[in-house]
Amino acid sequence: MQIRITLLPGDGIGPEVVQAAVKVMQAAAEKFNIRIQLTEKLIGGASFEKFGTPLTDETLQACFDADAVILGAVGGYQWEALPHHQKPEAALLKLRKELQLFANIRPAKVYSAFAGASSLKADVLSGTDFVVLRELTGGIYFGEPRGYDKTKGWNTMTYQRHEIERIARKAFEIARQRSRKVTSVDKANVLEVSQFWRDVVAEVAEQYPGVELNNMYVDNAAMQIVRDPKQFDVILTSNLFGDILSDIAGMITGSLGMLPSASLGEKYALYEPVHGSAPDIAGQNKANPIATIASVAMMFGYSFQMTKAGQLIEQAIERTLEQGYRTVDIYQEGNKLVGTTEMTAKIVENFEAIFHEEGLGVFTL
Ligand code: NAD
Repeated sequence: MQIRITLLPGDGIGPEVVQAAVKVMQAAAEKFNIRIQLTEKLIGGASFEKFGTPLTDETLQACFDADAVILGAVGGYQWEALPHHQKPEAALLKLRKELQLFANIRPAKVYSAFAGASSLKADVLSGTDFVVLRELTGGIYFGEPRGYDKTKGWNTMTYQRHEIERIARKAFEIARQRSRKVTSVDKANVLEVSQFWRDVVAEVAEQYPGVELNNMYVDNAAMQIVRDPKQFDVILTSNLFGDILSDIAGMITGSLGMLPSASLGEKYALYEPVHGSAPDIAGQNKANPIATIASVAMMFGYSFQMTKAGQLIEQAIERTLEQGYRTVDIYQEGNKLVGTTEMTAKIVENFEAIFHEEGLGVFTL
């Protein structure tokens, strides 16, 4: 099998963490007997400096031509004063729109070596493993009419039937590969758009008889995520609610440097860490590469149905943390402090060791 990946390292620590991701991808490619064709393009501030725009047609075309895109991060102080359409962040919004990425997935998975680092008690947290699936291209962030004047401000939350159907299908398909439970989160006791959402999700659920569906109001869901996160498998929700819930879900599991994400459409897929370009530590070999490496694990699972490769990468991260290796952002007394490249090398080493321990030999797909 040959897969085409477009790399968009971007700014700040982006190139460092994408380089780490490439190392892990190459190790997986070798063990699982696949060929990876890499294409690298500029995005964000790096692209603005060279071409006067944060996203060129050439970069966009390279994303259309790829089976999956891996992005580092964009942004930096030096570009903050630019007009909105030239800012590095404008590239991300345009890219997501052009690739029609309507579903964003953020996992909330607790590495056992890391349970003590959360603001929640370890026994509440242990065993937590769910994903938040957020609708990304509709809802109140895009609804018309919108605006404000001297006396009022207004926005509109609208969902079309097809927008709900396609994200609901994704939720049920993901649940089928996991623990077969979807919790759809809305505010149907107050909002008509939420009642419609709830009705359409229930219709879609009929096509997935092996998956359990329940509904929860968003205020309760926010509470339940911190009270008993183990109860969730796939949380399906709209753009605004998902924005908030995915941040809560992310933070209960630890640090920003550990959080991966995937954005999926019907045809394209983009994988990126949740964190930004961290200009304060850029170029110093201090960046935690785990979020980007875990994004690669998601890529193997979601884009290439290589679930085993994804799981082995997850296990390699887990083992590296258990061995005590930490980058500076997650370092605590008694740990072994390492930089980006050392952390990456340890994860690759553990990936290869686990592969051999499991007696997998060379995998042929
Ligand atoms: P940030 O996520 O870049 O950094 C916040 C803090 O977390 C910093 O102290 C940073 O050093 C630390 N941090 C983040 N990722 C880390 C990692 N992998 N390893 C170790 N430490 C890490 O957020 P910010 O400071 O608010 O934003 C910096 C720039 O990034 C801004 O220009 C912002 O617009 C941009 N940004 C981009 C994205 C993206 O590309 N998706 C997301 C958020 C922010």
